[in-house]
Formats: sequence, structure tokens, C-alpha cells
Amino acid sequence: MNRPKILILGAGYGGLTTAVNLQKKIGVNVADITIVNKNSYHYESTWLHEASAGTLSPERVRYEIKDVLNSKVNFVQASVESLDVNNKKVITDAGEMSYDYLVVGLGFEGETFGIEGLDKYALGIANVNEARKIRDHINTQFAEWATQAPAEKDDSLLTIIVGGAGFTGIEFLGELANRIPELSKEYDVPQEKIRIICVEAAPVVLPMFSRELVEYAVGHLTKKGIEFSIGTPVVQATEEGVKIKKGEDEFEFIKAGTVVWAAGVRGSRIVEESDLPSNRARIAVEKDLRVPGYPEVFIVGDCAFMLNEEAGRPYPPTAQIAMQQAVVAAENLIALIEGNDTKEFTPELKGTVCSLGDSDAIGEVFGKEITGKYASFMKKVIDNRALYMVGGAGLVLKKGKFNVL
Ligand code: FAD
Ligand code: NAD
Repeated sequence: MNRPKILILGAGYGGLTTAVNLQKKIGVNVADITIVNKNSYHYESTWLHEASAGTLSPERVRYEIKDVLNSKVNFVQASVESLDVNNKKVITDAGEMSYDYLVVGLGFEGETFGIEGLDKYALGIANVNEARKIRDHINTQFAEWATQAPAEKDDSLLTIIVGGAGFTGIEFLGELANRIPELSKEYDVPQEKIRIICVEAAPVVLPMFSRELVEYAVGHLTKKGIEFSIGTPVVQATEEGVKIKKGEDEFEFIKAGTVVWAAGVRGSRIVEESDLPSNRARIAVEKDLRVPGYPEVFIVGDCAFMLNEEAGRPYPPTAQIAMQQAVVAAENLIALIEGNDTKEFTPELKGTVCSLGDSDAIGEVFGKEITGKYASFMKKVIDNRALYMVGGAGLVLKKGKFNVL
């Protein structure tokens, strides 16, 4: 009998963890396993705010996919172009690939909600090259200001708008706040001329945390010079900056050299354009992570949608959940091949930590609220654990975070 073909799309937290768990748990010659990813490397999406602010090199954020795979899994570097799920085929820029079982882990893209100008004029934090673009753009704006004639200096080049005060926005602001004194020195820019404004649509930032933790985070960032405009959605972006809504008929235009959009994510467009049933590019999966009507297709990570029935709202798209789903998807694939029943996936939420730069953070871990250096230490433990789950101690030693203060 032919060996079943397992095709995994995307080597992010979901896809790569599925591949690594399969290679650990499946017997030799039981299945042909292939993982496809557009780059030769995996990047830690959860570290992208650091690479974007320039506080961590983009090289630190990524590692070669082949380094964590053994001979049980083939790696193909290719861009997935479309899914032909009715004929069990995937079309890539390296040709067509067929499968018996498919695991879709194509991850997230920035969500702009159709707001005018954002696609063109704002920078997103969705992959390692976008992070590089933000870092380089800020550097260029500062260099431009520094080389303008004194009478012609355009101070708006030194204004950075961050749209969205969710986790990504706040973590990016934390890094940026630490980077500003360095930028000021490097480009001979007086620090008081630099403005960083966070614009948030909702009446509060980080609504998932208690008031005390939010006050801690906002207080920390405000002390470092970050300005907040809360309850004022961005309604338009132009080459010059952003327009925000301050009241029923009240708007303000803020001129800025850099606009970073961190106001939400959606799943992959490839998923949305396929015949799989999706909403904002996310697919509501069965409890065993398969797609209704497509029992050979699993979805892991940010392309999957699951309702937290207890809370009455969806589970958030996080690396924590993507990796947990991947472990179960790998076990379920093996179960199907062996003719056994699949098992249900239940997220085990251990808590969340939101960094505020390299040495401060807020969080709730195992039901306990934490702040400061301890919270920052916990964030590094979480970051290192993700490396460990994929590449073991060797990867932690190579890429891990050990600068505990
Ligand atoms: P991804 O990590 O996005 O991986 C998708 C992979 O697919 C990538 O390798 C990509 O290159 C590849 N790919 C995409 N399209 C194609 C294509 N067409 N062809 C081939 N390959 C393709 N979550 C947490 O739990 N904790 C955190 O601390 C945390 N911090 C975050 C910080 C930031 C700045 C951001 C942006 C997100 C953070 N998240 C965090 C959320 C987390 O990063 C995502 O939930 C997680 O990355 C989702 O994993 P994934 O495997 O679904 O997708
Ligand atoms: P998010 O959806 O959590 O937050 C986006 C924020 O942008 C919200 O506060 C929203 O009100 C705001 N917003 C939306 N439209 C706006 C507009 N027009 N103008 C101004 N503000 C607007 O998105 P995120 O922060 O990118 O996070 C995405 C996912 O990644 C979440 O599931 C999050 O939990 C996860 N994440 C986790 C961590 C962590 O655990 N440390 C870090 C980053 C991201």
C-alpha cells in the first residue's frame, strides 16, 4: 500500500511544531511528510516588535527550518499560491503538490479593516521583512531630518504613530521607548523633538488585563515619553500622516514620518480565497482541528477559529494556542493513519505576558498578576520555551534570551 502523503503548509509556530511532533512520534516509513514554507527560515513572530523597533537584530529572530527537521520530513521552499481542496492539491510557485492529509498553518496578516490609505502608507508588523522595513524607515526619517537645513527642518519626520494599543502595539511601544535615546544619539536629534503617539479606537488599552495592570503599563510608557490618544480611531492614512476621529463630527490630522499599524490580524488570504468555509480568513474547525466537510484537512494557528464556549468568545490567535494545536494535530494525523479515533483539542491557557521593553512587563500567569522584572523574566522563559518545543536545548542555546536583569 502507498504511504499516505502529509502536506504541511507554513513553518510558523503551528506548521513547524506539527512537523517536529510528527517526526518525533511517527514510525519510520509510515508516511511521506512534506512541509512547505516561502522562506528557508522560520521566524519567531512573537519577537517581531523587537526587530521592528531595532532593539533586536532580524537575524536573531529567525533560524533555518532544516536545522530542526530530521530525515522523516522533507522541506520544500515555495510560496503557496492557492488551495484546490476538492482535488486534494496545492498550487505553489514551485509546482503542484498533492496530498492525502493537509495541515494548513499559513498564519496571520495585518488587518486594515478597509481603512483608506493604510495599505499604502502604514507599515505592518507581520513578518521579518516587514519588521526590517519599519526599523529602516524610522532610521531613514531620522537621517533625513538630520540632513535638512536648519531653517527647513520638518519635525514631523520625527513623529511615529502607532495604530492600536493591543498586545502588538503596546509591546512595540515598549521597545521603541527604549530605542529612542539611542536613535537620538545616533542621528543627533534632540530627544524632545521626537514624538511617539499611540492611537487606540477603544476606550481602554489591553482590555484583557485588570485596571491596575493597564495603569502600570500606560504609566511606564507615559514616563518614557509615549503619548496616548484613546477612544480615537484612525479613519484614514495619507503620505503625510493619519486622520483620527475625536468626536461625532470632530477629526484631527496628525502629521507623521512613520505610521505603524498594529491594530489587529486576520488569517491568510490563501485560505480566504479557497473553497474552505472561512470568516476573516479564519476557518471554524471541529474539535479535533479538522475542517467540517473536509476530514483530511487540519487547520492550526491563526487560520483556525475556535470558540471558547465558557467565555462565549473566540480563543485569541496566539502562538501559545498554535503550538498546542500542532501537538494535537500531529497526534490526530497518526491516529487517522493507524485507523484510530482522533482526540479533541482543548486549549490550556497558562497566562499571558505583555512586554514593556527588555526589562519590564505586565502579565497574568496561572491566575496571578505580575509586573516588573519578574514579569519580564517570565516573558523570556515563555520565549525560550517556544524555542525548546521546536528545537530542544540546542536551539535555546543558539537563539534564546538570557539577558535577565
Ligand atoms: P505564523 O507564525 O504567522 O507562521 C506562518 C508561516 O507561514 C510563516 O513561516 C510564513 O512565512 C509562512 N507562509 C505564509 N504564507 C505563505 C505562503 N503563501 N506560502 C508559503 N509559506 C507561507 N502570541 C503569543 O502566544 N505570545 C506572544 O508573546 C505573542 N507575541 C506576538 C508579538 C507580535 C509582534 C505579533 C505580531 C504576534 C504575537 N503573537 C504572540 C501572536 C503569534 O505570533 C501568532 O499567533 C502566531 O505567530 C501564529 O502562528 P502560525 O503558525 O499560525 O503563523
Ligand atoms: P488586537 O486585536 O489584540 O489589538 C488591536 C487593537 O487595535 C485593539 O485594541 C483595537 O481596538 C485597536 N484598533 C482597531 N481598529 C483601530 C483603529 N481604526 N484605530 C485605532 N485602533 C484600532 O491585535 P494585536 O495586538 O495585533 O494582537 C493580535 C493577536 O496576537 C492577539 O491574539 C494577541 O493576543 C496576540 N499577541 C499576543 C502577545 C503576547 O501574548 N505578548 C503579543 C502580541 C500579540
